[in-house]
Amino acid sequence: MTRKSLLVLLGLCVGVFSCTQKEQADIIVCNGVVYTVDSAFSTATAFAVKDGKIIAVGKTEDIKVRYAAAEIVDAQGMAVYPGFIDAHSHFTGYGRSLFEVNLYDCNDWAEAVERIKAFATEHPNEPWIRGRGWDQNKFPGKEYPTNKELNELFPDKPVMVQRVDGHAAIANAKALTLAGVTTATKLAGGEITVVKGQLTGLLIDNAVDLITAVIPKANKEVYEKWLTAAQQNCFAQGLTMVSDCGLLYHDITMIDTLQREGRLDMRMYVMLSDDTITYKQYMEARTVAMRAGNADVVKRYVGNGPFKTEKLFVKGVKAYADGALGSRGACLLQHYSDKPEWGGFLLSAPAHYDSLAQLLAGTDFQLCTHAIGDSGNRMALNIYTKHLRGKNDKRWRIEHAQVVNPADFHLFGESSIVPSVQPTHATSEMYWAGVRVGAERIKSAYAYKQLLAENDWLPLGTDFPVEDISPVKTFYAAVARMDAKGFPEGGFLKENALSREQALRGITVWAARASFMENEVGSIEVGKSADFVILDTDLMKEEERAILKTKVNATYIGGVKVH
Ligand SMILES: [Zn+2]
Repeated sequence: MTRKSLLVLLGLCVGVFSCTQKEQADIIVCNGVVYTVDSAFSTATAFAVKDGKIIAVGKTEDIKVRYAAAEIVDAQGMAVYPGFIDAHSHFTGYGRSLFEVNLYDCNDWAEAVERIKAFATEHPNEPWIRGRGWDQNKFPGKEYPTNKELNELFPDKPVMVQRVDGHAAIANAKALTLAGVTTATKLAGGEITVVKGQLTGLLIDNAVDLITAVIPKANKEVYEKWLTAAQQNCFAQGLTMVSDCGLLYHDITMIDTLQREGRLDMRMYVMLSDDTITYKQYMEARTVAMRAGNADVVKRYVGNGPFKTEKLFVKGVKAYADGALGSRGACLLQHYSDKPEWGGFLLSAPAHYDSLAQLLAGTDFQLCTHAIGDSGNRMALNIYTKHLRGKNDKRWRIEHAQVVNPADFHLFGESSIVPSVQPTHATSEMYWAGVRVGAERIKSAYAYKQLLAENDWLPLGTDFPVEDISPVKTFYAAVARMDAKGFPEGGFLKENALSREQALRGITVWAARASFMENEVGSIEVGKSADFVILDTDLMKEEERAILKTKVNATYIGGVKVH
């Protein structure tokens, strides 16, 4: 027998063997346009899943020959993607917001007050009224509101309603009293507004925390209500993992408990909030637990470094350099173009960020610093540079990296600093951002393509509930640089648009990488968790304006259908 005929015979044997003896899988997804988002950006038409993991990727005919499965998912020619990941969100806060007064899209303050009144009537037993979403930039005159109406309507019930970005709030007199805030209260990194010797109720940045600190902590049932509502909405938009940027120890305990009890399915990456108190608490809890020899507590919550379970990874620490552009809390190198003599401010002294960076440089924790203004960014970049010292794989992130001085971009590349950006911020804020920072500085704002060129990869997120939760909107904003109305024609600062491939990587594998999860999720490859979505639209081919009409057909996490 010649060598060639032996090979043919062997081939036949394998063929016959595989027909009768198919390998058992749990699910076969077939007849799809599968964007694997692997390093070659290759496509396939099918894959097989077993025990929650992807075990084979290829052509429908091959996969069907090799595998048998109880569940066949026929994608019917639709596009299949890795589950979408939001690299920067406030998942817990979003869940809470679903049970608060919704003030998004209020056209004036009177409308906000009406909504607060209606909420109070519907929820008479809520001890506190909380809300979020107002934006004075949408009000006639663009003036900040005061607490006058809320004091009259609710003399005995505390009310606090936050601005859309969470960096400002209006609190009524009752809430201010409970928090002990008076005209004499002084604090760093925030503002308590006093006009003619009276508190107006307007609180900026750290001043908001004075009120949040006295609001009673929610229990497990309340967290379950928040988080399950949040994940349901997220699954419906194709999200299979979120980064929750800045949680407290109590939040993490609740999330972990609910996940262990099987009540919460969302995959989560968590950054601990550098709410100095909480970070200290975390470090203290760690020391106490170790000293007490309580192995379980050590293992479950604090351990010797980052904390990881099947669906939860706590490895980040979120610091806050400055506020936001909308409330003029972002720290700028030069004054605001629409407010002379005002440049915003840092939320803490640079020494604070430096000591935090020094502390974390000696651990496996990732430092993630919120920086919006060019001064906030410069400070964070310089401190990172000092501690990272050149190329590295610590993946320290700058959240937002919104207004960056042209002279500072190179620092991202030189020390492998990861810019973590939110494309819908660009298309929401474009209406007034240029007025805030002027024609020159806006050119290096929301500069995603330029930031990508520095780091070679770029995680994308939304910052929801500041923006909508939809990753498809993120994709569209990144690529088209237009809002849902198709404004502006040709795109806002279009030179910084991303390609479709880059945008898709940004909401999948690059977002996974920003959370040290790229070996587990973020692409459809053998060995990874079977997190995937089926859409009725091919994001890579659809005409730009039609992208927003995309519907999510199905969402799977670890091979389990969640939507
Ligand atoms: Zn955020």
